[in-house]
Amino acid sequence: MKRFAIVGAGIAGLSAAYELELARKRGADLDWQLYEASNRVGGTVKTARKTTNDGEFVLEGGPDGWVSEKPWARDLAIELGLEQQLIYSNDATRKTYILIDNHLLPMPDGMRMMVPEDLASLEHSPLFSTEARSAYAAELTRAEQLRSSAHTSDESVATFVRRHFGDEVLQKIGAPLLSGVFGGDVNLLSVNSVMPAFVAMEREHGSLIAALQAKALARGNKPQQPIFTTLRHGLGSLIEAITAQLPPERIHRNHPALSIKREGNTWCLRTSTPAVKGRPGKSKRHFHHIFLATPIDATRTLLAPRDASIPGLIPQTASSAVLAALCWPASTASAFTVPPGFGFLVPQSGASNPHHQLLATTFVDQKFPHRAPPGARILRVFFGGPSADFLAPQTDAAIAAAAFAQLDNILGPLPQPDPCLTAVERWPRSLPQYEVGHADRIAQLDDHIRALGGLTLLGNGYRGVGLPDLIRDARSAVRSLVPAKG
Ligand SMILES: Cc1cc2nc3c(=O)[nH]c(=O)nc-3n(C[C@H](O)[C@H](O)[C@H](O)COP(=O)(O)OP(=O)(O)OC[C@H]3O[C@@H](n4cnc5c(N)ncnc54)[C@H](O)[C@@H]3O)c2cc1C
Repeated sequence: MKRFAIVGAGIAGLSAAYELELARKRGADLDWQLYEASNRVGGTVKTARKTTNDGEFVLEGGPDGWVSEKPWARDLAIELGLEQQLIYSNDATRKTYILIDNHLLPMPDGMRMMVPEDLASLEHSPLFSTEARSAYAAELTRAEQLRSSAHTSDESVATFVRRHFGDEVLQKIGAPLLSGVFGGDVNLLSVNSVMPAFVAMEREHGSLIAALQAKALARGNKPQQPIFTTLRHGLGSLIEAITAQLPPERIHRNHPALSIKREGNTWCLRTSTPAVKGRPGKSKRHFHHIFLATPIDATRTLLAPRDASIPGLIPQTASSAVLAALCWPASTASAFTVPPGFGFLVPQSGASNPHHQLLATTFVDQKFPHRAPPGARILRVFFGGPSADFLAPQTDAAIAAAAFAQLDNILGPLPQPDPCLTAVERWPRSLPQYEVGHADRIAQLDDHIRALGGLTLLGNGYRGVGLPDLIRDARSAVRSLVPAKG
């Protein structure tokens, strides 16, 4: 019987466990055990549901949905019987604002990140100067030059966007959009790893605007799918549905992995065990294969004694996030309005960011229906990078107050939110930065992992940070190791 261990019960580790359990139920001769450091499964996926007389507030502490274009999270949700729970972003009101000089300026319609499909949409945009609009128009005419000079090696997101549209577009929308997803620095982020679709477009069409126009032509009148998908009662439903498929005795909460070591043809996994009479214990078990689905820092620590080259190949930099969800029941929400749309982004004013400026705010009740009772309002504030590191040690009340003060300044005056509904989450070093050269380093890392044998790395440090990528990666890793049929 082949014995598998999974270390880390975030979405990556749970997806691997689910796939192993499917194989076991099909009759594959295998055993698996899942070890999680904390007392809960789900990792960064964390939903709080607060029921009031008006109805339910669904508060996402981490991710709030996934990009619909990538099918793997949706496929898993349907497989788990959650089809009726799938909900979509309300794209009829899709608009994102950028905060410039304390004014919320809308991004033009029909943009895919910083690329417009139609130059006409920029004409009356208050967001861009005449120079930026001219840079956009020129990109279309420079298609051949951009195609023939496309980089064969990796480069930063900043140089890529500047080559196409200039610095203003990079600073006003490129950097805030990418920081909103990766929390990172566009001067360091790898364009090949974080914007591969745009790199492919450049190789084929030169101009990114021309590439989007060609896609629109090919699409014809076919309706576009909503940009984001999620679950009615929050992404926690996905975690609950996966967990319901897993025998509870195989899930070991409060069992942080302490070390892994090769012994013959197996790995010896040492973990802590929950404290008995105040004293934590230790456990040691042997497995033929280990899936390490831990965050990058934990993975680095576990692997450093096994191969001294590995730590340098795992992403070093990771950005932190602090989230504060503020809620107003219908009775107080009626006292203010927010502009129609999904929310706004704030270009950061340099690394020091002395005001601990928020990075983004989601108008939750406008982005996804069913997340708040009728007439109620949820604003979710996202602090990233140095602001998140500064705020994380503070109390929930202080973080919520900082979020409120900034919203009040931008959208206000606002009534006080309901303190009983406020939710704050901290995610230190949770978003690994895929810096220039990332794909090459991961290819080298894969060689080292292969040489160790009986080991797979899963999670958001390597081949994608989004939920669909992590689910796809984990499930296909298991399928490549266990036979498709019993
Ligand atoms: C604020 C925020 C918002 C996001 N929004 C979105 C979004 O809207 N859509 C999207 O697709 N993605 C989003 N992401 C990205 C996505 O949520 C993450 O990349 C993903 O959830 C990470 O999953 P994971 O399984 O790799 O790791 P994690 O969720 O970090 O899970 C790792 C697990 O390993 C455990 N662990 C740690 N050390 C040990 C140890 N020694 N032994 C055993 N267990 C250990 C941890 O306790 C944890 O449970 C967001 C991320 C953040 C931080």
